[in-house]
Amino acid sequence: MTMIPYQNEPFLDYSLPENQQLMSQALEKVKSQLGQTYPLWIDGKEIQSETLEKSVNPAKHQEVIGYVSQANAPMIEEAIQAATRAFETWQFTSFEERAMYLVKAAAIMRRRKHELCAWQILESGKNWAEADADVAEAIDFLEYYARQAIRLDQGQELQPYPGEDNRLEYIPLGVGIVIPPWNFPLAILTGMAASAIVTGNTVLLKPAPQSSVMAAVFVEIMKEIHLPDGVLNFVPGHPAEIGDLMVGHRDTRFISFTGSKATGTHIDEYAHRKIDGQRWLKRVVAELGGKDGIVVDETADLDAAAEGIVASAFGFQGQKCSAGSRAIIHEDVYDELVEKVVALTKELKMGAPEENYPVGPVIDDKSFQKVTGYIEIGKQEDRLLLGGNADDSKGYYIEPTIFGNCTRQSRIMQEEIFGPVLAICKVSSFEEGIDVYNDTEYGLTGGVFSRDRRRLEYARKRMMCGNLYFNRKCTGALVGVQPFGGFNMSGTDSKAGGKDYLLNFVQPKVVTERF
Ligand code: GLU
Repeated sequence: MTMIPYQNEPFLDYSLPENQQLMSQALEKVKSQLGQTYPLWIDGKEIQSETLEKSVNPAKHQEVIGYVSQANAPMIEEAIQAATRAFETWQFTSFEERAMYLVKAAAIMRRRKHELCAWQILESGKNWAEADADVAEAIDFLEYYARQAIRLDQGQELQPYPGEDNRLEYIPLGVGIVIPPWNFPLAILTGMAASAIVTGNTVLLKPAPQSSVMAAVFVEIMKEIHLPDGVLNFVPGHPAEIGDLMVGHRDTRFISFTGSKATGTHIDEYAHRKIDGQRWLKRVVAELGGKDGIVVDETADLDAAAEGIVASAFGFQGQKCSAGSRAIIHEDVYDELVEKVVALTKELKMGAPEENYPVGPVIDDKSFQKVTGYIEIGKQEDRLLLGGNADDSKGYYIEPTIFGNCTRQSRIMQEEIFGPVLAICKVSSFEEGIDVYNDTEYGLTGGVFSRDRRRLEYARKRMMCGNLYFNRKCTGALVGVQPFGGFNMSGTDSKAGGKDYLLNFVQPKVVTERF
């Protein structure tokens, strides 16, 4: 099979009138499809459940995006059995054959790009560029993992041994539970599902309720590429009813989870209890939260630093595990830089994602309560420099909010908020800045703005994070370019979008034949 070399999907330029028009048309088209009902998909069959969960527009919570069928316990049993049956044949298909499904799905996503963006603009509150970046990343994951799977097919080169044929090949694990987050509604879901499937596993996909219509649209694409029955089973449902059941099931072989630390640590614990009849140690791949930060010293380009801090803190309303929610600034440039950060943030207008305002709503009521709760804590512990107001009468809007004079112990310097809140802390040396940066239980992304080579090298060695960026924002990792994942409570550092990622979903087998 011939494949062109992997390339990142280019981003669309929405300053061009033709792209603006295409997006407006796509938004109209998607709006005409709101309020539909979406089925489960188990063993290649659509199932409408009696219980439906509605997904709403966070910018207008009266607007229903769609109603999604909810799986109950017997349906999960059925899906696990279907996935187990499908595994009997899917595991023996070639990497190349499986890779082709991914390439076909990527082609469909490319064709439907504007429409896929429109769904998440309306369902997730992304502005146009954030939505486009998400769809581009979904396409990247498909194209990249297709090629990595073909590479995996070559096994591992072994030391030759006289009189023997030794081979190492990678075989799949079995039935996996894939639980993606709502914040990259197509990209991370696609990456997690595709990586498990292309390596020969079969999957139960439980989407996040807040983005379950986007997930249902993804499943439509999987139907269109004719993925064999039972390879992917779509099982939205209430975590209390089906979460532990899937994770703790005897026949589940692995769990791939991206989401909060609380859920991730629970899954990790629950999955590793051995139950009667279970024949393996389960594997858990978990990508959790972050309390990411950017350190700026007195040699830095302050305009670039201000831009990097603002983009990292407020892109998609700070709802990224990579979001730079802390800025740690040297005292010599503190006042000047803080002024620049506040000025740039003031320019960010808040409003409807479909009208492409830079700042939109947070995802739901629970998030609104949590973020505004942290703003209250910040008002008591730290100094409010900007924002702090919120209004959930129509949508879940929270102003981009900045607190200054935070100490390293401030709660908003320690706890993940997952919203548009930036905590700024003053330090008296670069080394102290790195120390403050490291003083969290997380270790996902970090950034440094400095022109001092010695300091960059110091940071390279000492900052405890999976993705470290010098002189740029700390969000927006690209597939294949910056494999993504973090240390400590940020997860298992599985490095999505990297060459090692697929190894999470296979086990190496060595066969020796004596001549
Ligand atoms: N990969 C994304 C980034 O680099 C973040 C993913 C997440 O928030 O889960 O910004």
